[in-house]
Amino acid sequence: MIFAESLGILLNAYEAKKMVNLRDLTQQELESFLASLGYPAYRGRQLYRWIFARRVSNFDKMTDLPQDLRTHLSRTAIIETPRIADSSPKALDGTRKYLFELGDGTYVETVFLPSSTAQTVCISTQVGCSLNCVFCATGRMGFYRNLTTAEIVNQIVEIEREEKIRISHVVFMGMGEPLCNFDAVMKAAHLLADPAGMGLSARHITISTIGIVPAIERIIHEGMPAKLAVSLHATNDEQRSQIVPVNKTYPLSLLMKTLRAYAHVTRYPITFEYILIKDLNDRPEDAAALPQLLRNIPAKLNLIRLHPTGCRFEPSPEERVEAFLKELRAAKLDATLRVSRGLECQAACGQLAPQEPRRKSPASDSIPTDLANLADDIQK
Ligand code: SAH
Repeated sequence: MIFAESLGILLNAYEAKKMVNLRDLTQQELESFLASLGYPAYRGRQLYRWIFARRVSNFDKMTDLPQDLRTHLSRTAIIETPRIADSSPKALDGTRKYLFELGDGTYVETVFLPSSTAQTVCISTQVGCSLNCVFCATGRMGFYRNLTTAEIVNQIVEIEREEKIRISHVVFMGMGEPLCNFDAVMKAAHLLADPAGMGLSARHITISTIGIVPAIERIIHEGMPAKLAVSLHATNDEQRSQIVPVNKTYPLSLLMKTLRAYAHVTRYPITFEYILIKDLNDRPEDAAALPQLLRNIPAKLNLIRLHPTGCRFEPSPEERVEAFLKELRAAKLDATLRVSRGLECQAACGQLAPQEPRRKSPASDSIPTDLANLADDIQK
């Protein structure tokens, strides 16, 4: 798949004699890049395999590429790798949080979550977040900027190198709202799910959203090589708008209608995340409202305990969590309580917010341009 915008950037960068970051490019874009240098398409395919399938970032190691091409690439292109500025000690279950310093001095956090059946990373898509959900530490940071495709993919490559393993599962559940950085996130998902690229199974990639309706509509039309998860957290607008401000823009009725259309077109089940908050959304009537809200949607429900982030809400008491789960199961919902991993290292859901100094201050216009343009894009 060619991403016209990035091809433009690539050619401009090349003409301006700036270094091109090859980790940002799809196979087709690499083929076009090499064609512009006079090389046949198969050289682009070889280069793509070195960069993504073999995770090699040193041109000298790409031994089946001609020497003149390797020399040329080392002068005009880079395969950018971010600096690991810090990492937490390993938790008992192996969970470890990484702090990456990006090229402009901003930071993101990424979590490695190993288990006996899966090597998972939870990756970030934005420096900060503009959506301000009240329970989330990332939201409190404000929004700095979107990550590039390379910065998204590199979190996985670097953790693989550090941990000396192959990652099998990726969840887009770190810092930021993935669907507010739509183009870079979708391109990253394509690179991850491409058998000739990063080689993950699309069934092992999950993109979680707070419910950006125009972006979900775009996914319905364009498809996506990943599963969808939706952070629901409430069963009516009054409750949800209190804790998720963007619900005022995309209220529940609109969100659920769009998700029904998504399920109808893709036939994939949707995972719903629901943080249990004491006296706000954990009462028997809330449990009773959920099956009604999710009717006609092939759904899994993940209950999450509220992790400490300094917000004004309290987690549901254990007995209420148990009762809630029991009620959902009695109503035949496929519901589970998510194990809270990473609490020891401030790496659990909602806790990602680097303490490191950031050279930039939050963007004054906190609506990411991608989001602002989405509605227009969808009309086209
Ligand atoms: N913005 C996207 C991606 C982030 S995913 C989204 O909202 O889905 C991070 C998950 O952790 C979301 O389900 C989010 O609602 C949840 N979360 C945020 N703060 C939390 C907290 N304090 N305790 C438990 N889960 C939290």
